[in-house]
Amino acid sequence: MISLSNKKILLITLIGRNFNNNYGAVLQAFALQDFLLSNRFYVEILDYEPEIERASVFEKSLKVIREKGFGFFLLKIFQKIKVIGEEILLNSYNQVRNQKISAFKSSTILFTEKRYSGYDDLIRDSTELLKSFDIFLVGSDQVWNMWNGEKDLRAYLLGFVKNVKKISYASSVSSEIPETLANLYLKHLREFDYISVREEESAQELEKVLGYKPKVNIDPTLLLTKERWEVLAQPSNQLIEKPYVFVYDLYRSKDILPVVEKVSRKQGIKYVNYQPVFFLKKIRFPNLKFSYYTEGPREFLWLLKESSFVVTSSFHGVVFSIIFERPFYAILWDKKDRIKQNGRIIDLLEKLGLRGRAFTDPKEILKRGLDENIDWGRIREKLKELQEDSISWLLEALVGNLPSRAIKPKNNNVAIIGKQDCTGCFACYNICPVDAIEMALSDEGFYVPRVNETACTNCGLCLEVCPVVNPPSLDDRFSAPKVYVAWSLDDVTRINSSSGGIYPELARFV
Ligand code: SF4
Ligand code: SF4
Repeated sequence: MISLSNKKILLITLIGRNFNNNYGAVLQAFALQDFLLSNRFYVEILDYEPEIERASVFEKSLKVIREKGFGFFLLKIFQKIKVIGEEILLNSYNQVRNQKISAFKSSTILFTEKRYSGYDDLIRDSTELLKSFDIFLVGSDQVWNMWNGEKDLRAYLLGFVKNVKKISYASSVSSEIPETLANLYLKHLREFDYISVREEESAQELEKVLGYKPKVNIDPTLLLTKERWEVLAQPSNQLIEKPYVFVYDLYRSKDILPVVEKVSRKQGIKYVNYQPVFFLKKIRFPNLKFSYYTEGPREFLWLLKESSFVVTSSFHGVVFSIIFERPFYAILWDKKDRIKQNGRIIDLLEKLGLRGRAFTDPKEILKRGLDENIDWGRIREKLKELQEDSISWLLEALVGNLPSRAIKPKNNNVAIIGKQDCTGCFACYNICPVDAIEMALSDEGFYVPRVNETACTNCGLCLEVCPVVNPPSLDDRFSAPKVYVAWSLDDVTRINSSSGGIYPELARFV
């Protein structure tokens, strides 16, 4: 391992080698690593695959039903069946897209050699990780969202390491923290030395838990210069004559595309769109030149950079329009349950004096036309101020003298669990990496842990696995129960037993 500085950083983002091929997530992870490398830190991105990714279709379906209701689940199934032909075609598109994005990741991003599958994997390896890295940095993007699932949330809250420098850069919550999870957030966040979030809404949400308002910093993609991104951009093989409109929408194509088509006809200008349009639907959009769904991040950047106008519902669509100084409209979420997702776009636009560029109804474009009038000189100045502020905060947090807010636990081992609470499960004994725990019989005849404080390194792993400190969540216990049906084949046993004779049968093996 060649070190460019004496600080080695483990960066935890929303991507892994084979996980998350969203342009925004990949480019923001690249940006933060690139920024740190250019400031002479050694940095690796944790190759983490969240537990939720490994869940079976059955487990994922159960999660949707539990969180959104059975009606919502049925509606989703119905929608999938309706577009089954498109889904099949999209799968073949996905293969090409994934190959290109994986190639981009392997050529530009340095991941940890080991791949971690789920939180328990991180816990098992935490001693090694602590030996290899000085600083654990999490961010950016929606790393602290509830949809990550409780165990993945613990991973992104850096619960797998103790007594080490922890920093969050521009992390995002983007939805309300439920009361049931507030203690989990507090427990882990209070061990952070420095916390920054990406938007005002996340700061307000975390203030409710932490009791103080974290710093708001810009998305890592905005830390890099326009020139740096231009070097990365690469022409697409798909050709289009300029001028053209670049449409980048992940959620509202049904509303946005018909409007862009109308405007493009009126102004005699073609457009490219992220999502492919299949079969007869193509007839409705004759001015749509092609879909860039199968392009890699470099081509995505190039197509946006070369466009004459951007229409986007994506936060990173807005960010790259600003970086490449392309006039744009940002289309906001209209659904009530998604309105909070708009916070990140609105917050950034307000700071840059561009709030008027965002609206909810795409038909607004018909009224305004493709208005290119943006004072980029003024935007550049405001952006520079935001960049300087975020950069100085991050560098101060990494190596400077910002006062740490961390409350590091003192008794960080199972010695704090009283024998009246201990279940004698041996989990702490089994996980201790330095064999500092011995299980001894108490006066009452139960096994309880005895910690050798001299050998203990205070890593906190035993507390992480202790069911007294972390009672299993309902999710863990009930997400995918295995159900067996059995009865005794012995008639007498079966008739005389209320359990169909299964208990006496099992008891013979105990
Ligand atoms: S006893 Fe000490 S060294 Fe062992 S797992 Fe607990 S905190 Fe870590
Ligand atoms: S993990 Fe907790 S409950 Fe289990 S033996 Fe250790 S202290 Fe007791």
